[in-house]
Amino acid sequence: MIQLKSAREIETMVAGGRILALTHAHLRTQVRPGISTGQLDKIAEEFIRSHDGALPAFKGLYGFPGAICISVNDEIVHGIPTPKRLLGDGDIVKLDVGVQYQGMFTDAAITVPVGTIAPETQRLIDVTERSLEAGMAQAVVGNYVGDIGHAVQQVVERAGFSVVRELVGHGVGHLPHEDPQVPNHGKPKRGTRLQAGLTIAIEPMVNVGGPATRTLADKWTVVTLDGTLSAHVEHTVAVTDDGPRILTRL
Ligand code: MG
Repeated sequence: MIQLKSAREIETMVAGGRILALTHAHLRTQVRPGISTGQLDKIAEEFIRSHDGALPAFKGLYGFPGAICISVNDEIVHGIPTPKRLLGDGDIVKLDVGVQYQGMFTDAAITVPVGTIAPETQRLIDVTERSLEAGMAQAVVGNYVGDIGHAVQQVVERAGFSVVRELVGHGVGHLPHEDPQVPNHGKPKRGTRLQAGLTIAIEPMVNVGGPATRTLADKWTVVTLDGTLSAHVEHTVAVTDDGPRILTRL
């Protein structure tokens, strides 16, 4: 069931989304060769909790052990932070953060280069970010969920990359995950009609190789089946009468 948000609820999400965006900005300054994903998780948790009333929304969600999800290179999403995993020069790291603030949830992810990355790896990140922008631009009253997925898919596939199918964006707000599902592929004018007050997380996951995935033995980490690199970026967006409002960007 889709729950539309009131203007007041969206303002609460704006406040939570700002804390999330500040968390990402802080984490960007901390990413470097030699830091562990466990350290980044600790930094993220402390930073979020330093804001009155804010909690890391993924901690304990469905039993997840970290405060945020940290996925490296061929890991697409849901990587578990650990002091044993050190980032290396040339890696890419995906930082997927959820914030709970005054009873409302926001969700966003960034992909960050570690040290110096290969030009093709930078292109992967650029295309993934461009696909998110294209998807968000379709989050307009009267459009359909399929318009978002179609826009994302077009950008990604024209660049020669592939979009993950098994994982999708989602409604967000009262809960971390709500209806509707927001796939990163699709056909224009298909699926749920977008109404004012809908709040969704749009989150393209883009692979250098094929779209297929598998889950590691830790039961959380989703990786590319072919071992190629994957990038992931995400914003929480409100559909409003004045167009898409990005709640997790400063
Ligand atoms: Mg997320």
